[in-house]
Amino acid sequence: MSQGPWTWAELWSTWRAAVAAEPGGVFAQWITIVAISVVAGLIIFYAAALPLHYIYYVRKRDEAPRWKCQPNRWLPDKLNRQAMRLSTLNMIIGGVMSGTFITYVLQGGWTRLYYDWSEYGVAYLALSAVLAFLWSDGWAYYIHRASHVRWAYKAYHRIHHRFVATTPWVTVAIHPVELMMQVVANYVLLFLIPIYAPMFAFMLIYVLVYNIIDHSGVKFVSRIPWQPSSLFHDDHHRHFHVNFGQHLTLWDRMHGTLRRVDRRYGEEVFGGRGDGKGSEFVQY
Ligand SMILES: [Zn+2]
Ligand SMILES: [Zn+2]
Repeated sequence: MSQGPWTWAELWSTWRAAVAAEPGGVFAQWITIVAISVVAGLIIFYAAALPLHYIYYVRKRDEAPRWKCQPNRWLPDKLNRQAMRLSTLNMIIGGVMSGTFITYVLQGGWTRLYYDWSEYGVAYLALSAVLAFLWSDGWAYYIHRASHVRWAYKAYHRIHHRFVATTPWVTVAIHPVELMMQVVANYVLLFLIPIYAPMFAFMLIYVLVYNIIDHSGVKFVSRIPWQPSSLFHDDHHRHFHVNFGQHLTLWDRMHGTLRRVDRRYGEEVFGGRGDGKGSEFVQY
């Protein structure tokens, strides 16, 4: 391959040469699986974000007071495009990480994944699904909360908080390092307890799609009992250091960081408890 900027044609010929030199080899498999993971991730992201964008931000734009979480605040187009680019980059990074992990598994790497749902019985499958969800959601809370410590917030998490009135494109508009921490935290579970592979894949898709709904900026009341309304995370963007949870309000209730009525919050009010005397939690 020549020096200087690569081209798609050069990458393609490098890949073909690698396959020819080692048919069925690990490099060719890695490139293929990574490509599939990246494309699949982008398809899921755009398939959920585009309809929300089109229905609300294009067709129902004039009816914003009816549907918008923050009807008087709009993300400037320039920031929205920035969010879209950053989310796309992070979906690609996530796809490369997932593809690399899948290649490791396909090459016989050790994990505790299993592929026949009946292997540990239905009761274990249900229990492990609950555990996997709590594991994922718990890490989402603690990594997020740690990212709101003053220096971490200023060093990398502030990027996600440039977007006060969120749109679907803001969902994974975070610092790539933060994305990698979340991905690694999720995958560590696969080395700890037996996990049914399709259940884990489904959970990752659920987490992504619900995050898109929660960042849509559209008021959605959840029909799923453990999911709060989209105002829960919208308030995180509006009030900054409060409501750190992802899907459950459990962690915020446990640590007293759920937003309370009559308290003042803001970008300079660190600590997750706000200023003032209100003690009653806001209902989501
Ligand atoms: Zn945050
Ligand atoms: Zn957010």
